[in-house]
Amino acid sequence: MSQRVYLDYAATTPVDPRVVEEMLPYFTERFGNANSLYSSGREAATALADARQVLADSIGAKPDEIVFTSGGTESDNMALIGIARGGGRTSGHVVVSAIEHHAVLEPAHWLAKHGYEVTELAPREDGLVRAEDLERVMREDTILVSTMHGNNELGTIQPIRELAEVAHAAGALFHTDAAQTLGKVDLDVGELGVDAASFSSHKIHGPKGMGALFVRRAARMAPLIMGGGQESKKRSGTQNVSGAVGMAAALRLMDEERPEESERLRSLRDRLIDGVLDIELTSLNGARDVPRLPHVANFILKGVEGESVLLRLDAKGFEVSTGSACSSGSLKPSHVLLSIGCPQEEAHGSMRVSVGRFTTEDDVEAFLEALPPIVEQLRGMNPLWERIRSGELG
Ligand SMILES: *Cc1c(COP(=O)(O)O)cnc(C)c1O
Repeated sequence: MSQRVYLDYAATTPVDPRVVEEMLPYFTERFGNANSLYSSGREAATALADARQVLADSIGAKPDEIVFTSGGTESDNMALIGIARGGGRTSGHVVVSAIEHHAVLEPAHWLAKHGYEVTELAPREDGLVRAEDLERVMREDTILVSTMHGNNELGTIQPIRELAEVAHAAGALFHTDAAQTLGKVDLDVGELGVDAASFSSHKIHGPKGMGALFVRRAARMAPLIMGGGQESKKRSGTQNVSGAVGMAAALRLMDEERPEESERLRSLRDRLIDGVLDIELTSLNGARDVPRLPHVANFILKGVEGESVLLRLDAKGFEVSTGSACSSGSLKPSHVLLSIGCPQEEAHGSMRVSVGRFTTEDDVEAFLEALPPIVEQLRGMNPLWERIRSGELG
């Protein structure tokens, strides 16, 4: 096997060549600053406005409710800290789910150290956060609830509409991290009933370092980045016009291709799930029959280390992840797996596989051929394997 098979589309995606094509002029001949009043500036401002319109149309928002950012992480930080501090507020209660991306959890932890109270809400074992569980932790002084739309590790899709209703009934605003769902499922901020939503361009075949935050007109949000007052004073700094053009082009392609593409991905993912579960003592993380992203599946392979599987697969040309890509390098088991009740020692044996635009059936079949001997070999090297297999050890 000489060609590499990339199966980590939930971590990032290659920029689609059609997107690159649309971006290129904005690096050179159309280099204007979107805030300048002369022709080249107006040309850049028009491109930026067009990109904003594409995003707004795709998610059912108004263009002035879209703030361009440097990515999903910045959007999450802006939503959490900006809304918590909106209108000059310096305290209050914030709820985040325990399966959030670190880009939500870390700003929540920061708030907890700076005058706010934060509750981390655990999901159920199936990987979903329940509205009734949220209801139980809501307080009179709750100002913000943040629950992600599609979970990047498990692939489960949260019941955002019901969760947002609970938040609103208590007078709180609702933010969702939609980095994994943008372009991949039908997403309408009005139907979801959210006040803010975070998006990332590089998860949808757009450029890295580009993202957006939807913030409803009525929501008060303090800026994180201050300066020249760009993006309606919500996010200063000369706008990344080529990035915005690229993100919009990428989203347009996702929306156009979604009806067929999501079916294709779903069937590749289902084949993957069936194939991996054919190996003894493996299981799928998160329930199979709940709403799910079409492209992500996460497994426990008992008796092996996820890292060892990853490295051996890599040597054979296959790229998958273990835990979450962002925290790789640390050997801490995934907070998401722990929060759905996965025992610590099993969480070390997790593997996430995610398919995308350039994944073929042959790729999936080749992967399913390569995996079992690797797992078998690693289990053979594990002195505890026979005891794990017999059920004596977990
Ligand atoms: C990738 C991702 C992010 C971070 O986005 P960046 O653009 O990489 O900063 C945040 N949340 C989720 C759910 C993601 O998948």
